[in-house]
Amino acid sequence: MDRKRFIRDFSVAAIGGGALLTSCKPKSQTHKESAPAEAEYKWKMVTTWPPNFPVLGEACQHFADWVHKMSSGEMLIKVYGAGELIPGLEVFDAVSSGAAEIGNGASYYWAGKSPATQLFTAVPFGMNAQQMNAWIYCGGGLELWKELYAKFGLISFPAGNTGMQMAGWFNKEINDISDLKGLKMRIPGLGGKVLAKAGGTAVLSSGNEIYTNLERGVIDATEWIGPYHDYVMGFHKIARYYYSPGWHEPGSVLENMFNLKAFNELPEHLQVILETASARMNVWVISEFEAKNNMYMEKLVREEKVDVRKLDADILNQLKKYTTEILEDMAEADEFTGKVYKSFTSFAGNIRNWAAYSEKLYHEL
Ligand code: CA
Repeated sequence: MDRKRFIRDFSVAAIGGGALLTSCKPKSQTHKESAPAEAEYKWKMVTTWPPNFPVLGEACQHFADWVHKMSSGEMLIKVYGAGELIPGLEVFDAVSSGAAEIGNGASYYWAGKSPATQLFTAVPFGMNAQQMNAWIYCGGGLELWKELYAKFGLISFPAGNTGMQMAGWFNKEINDISDLKGLKMRIPGLGGKVLAKAGGTAVLSSGNEIYTNLERGVIDATEWIGPYHDYVMGFHKIARYYYSPGWHEPGSVLENMFNLKAFNELPEHLQVILETASARMNVWVISEFEAKNNMYMEKLVREEKVDVRKLDADILNQLKKYTTEILEDMAEADEFTGKVYKSFTSFAGNIRNWAAYSEKLYHEL
């Protein structure tokens, strides 16, 4: 995706979604903070989202507020939406060079720097939000992420998760894997590569083009995020079927990246504050998405009478085979990606065994 397109990609949602809803805002403290008049550290946070973008952009502002309070005013962070200081897709380079100290986005945007970055965000048929947290925080994932980012003068922490996404909006019924042949769908990243293996075409449409392209039949389908953001985009007005599950993005991790040199030069308590506030952001984003998706799925089904469908198990199994082929080729082509892939797949395999004893049975109740 080129930079211009990326910025435009989010403009519609930003305009359409900003004023619609009240988010679950964390309660602010009632007493006055004894903050110093002037902050010792004034840092810039550049983001890949438009200003006040629902959930994702809002979370960045919460992070800045939390850090300010936790540090008793010692650190002041100014948040910039995409395009305000730099374009969204320049976040990685800006933080790497030190032009900004903090960046927020998703590591799979930086696949051009290393294919391994994709494994820290979302892998088709990969792990869900809870399992990604387990791998990253306690299963060796964060160490690998740090090792990779250190090469670019960066350090990153998880700072949000979209939770399970939806497979997307379709104007054609998908009853068999052959129905994906010739299907023109807006689906980025690894998911797009999988669709191509199934004979479909992954089309790159910017955010404000998706609606018109789907309406006019330029594309037959699109994925986005989940019920809340999808409702804001208005896809239910022009697409016939809303398919589940989001096999291509089962729990996309968002990141806070920091310039490594600037981070290392901070007093230890501020380093801990930045990491801790990122972890709070990680919890807040998934909670907000889950709460909103739940409400908006109901709204789509009850009020908008959306025809929600389930992708057939045979189709999903075939897509899973294509995914493994793509990932194995990717792991073979790059040594570090191979190392991360090995850690990811081994952890994912084991945690699935545990899930088979626990959550899988519970969900069947
Ligand atoms: Ca998506």
